[in-house]
Amino acid sequence: MYYSQSEPGKQSHTSLKNKFINFAYDTGLIRAGRGLWAKSLTVVNYHRIDDPNRKGFDSFKPNVSATPDDFNRQMDYLVKWFNVVSLQDVLAWLDGYKELPPYAALITFDDGYLDNYTSAYPILRKHNFPALIFLTTEHIGTDAAFYWDMAAYCFHHTENDHLTFPNGSVEHWSNQEQLSQVSRKWIELMKALPQTEKQVQVQRLPGLLDVSVPKGFFQKLMMNWDQVRELQKGGIEFGAHTMRHPILTRIALEQVRAEVEGSKLRIEKELGTPILSFAYPNGQLADLNDRIEKIVADSGIRAAFTLLNGPSSQVEVKRNPYAIRRIFVSHKHSISEFAALLSPINRYRSN
Ligand SMILES: [Zn+2]
Repeated sequence: MYYSQSEPGKQSHTSLKNKFINFAYDTGLIRAGRGLWAKSLTVVNYHRIDDPNRKGFDSFKPNVSATPDDFNRQMDYLVKWFNVVSLQDVLAWLDGYKELPPYAALITFDDGYLDNYTSAYPILRKHNFPALIFLTTEHIGTDAAFYWDMAAYCFHHTENDHLTFPNGSVEHWSNQEQLSQVSRKWIELMKALPQTEKQVQVQRLPGLLDVSVPKGFFQKLMMNWDQVRELQKGGIEFGAHTMRHPILTRIALEQVRAEVEGSKLRIEKELGTPILSFAYPNGQLADLNDRIEKIVADSGIRAAFTLLNGPSSQVEVKRNPYAIRRIFVSHKHSISEFAALLSPINRYRSN
């Protein structure tokens, strides 16, 4: 999961930008400079494939990357302009056994949500595409809650109008907009807490908001190991994404090692195959460093993925396969924005 708050007051700028992006998409200008980027690796990152606006959706909306229709459209775009490769292809190229095709793209998913199995997989199969799913192992086949989904569920169902935050401040709301602001604030606060403290706060939230979470709710959001094995048989590859999804710069290095190795070993045990890839939770610049990259490399991982934005040149990936960029896709992106994110122009954005 990765989540950044949108900047308020940028509406007119955004609509102008969107007009330009739509124009560039319609005219093909969006692929300007493409010829210079044939030797590239474009890694696309998804979390969930679902409709966040459907009735009864009560988990964390920003984690929805695309509706099934939009995902299908995006896969059609990849067919047209990219050569989709597997992790195995990328590793063989890193080892010098083979070349990557021009305009190579790798499709990845984080966390291990059930809709990867029910919604994304049939569309991937239709396109004959491989994909790589990073699993947070303590959440596969268990009822453990990700704090963002716990927050979304509780704020969706509460009838209360205020919440006392762990720092003692009392936050009130009187409409839906304010409620989602407080919810976002709570999630941001959780990110900053040490892992053990975070777990305590997550457990307390339903009580504080007078909400009772049905048993098995979080378990049903995620895949179980049988489904993971079924996908494996169908050509989907898996990587590690820690056991409990802590931000690795916020825990001791010994714990980092335990989270990386623990998740890797668990998937290897369940699938009977070496696990050679890893995705950093949250994946921003502040969420990894050289020492963490070294721990990941020492564990036997061969390629590790961030959420630093944009496609990479092949030279960059070879130089450091432990901080590979990925393009975060949101359900808010139109197909034109999706195309813009995948274009080399995206590397000139400020982040
Ligand atoms: Zn994640």
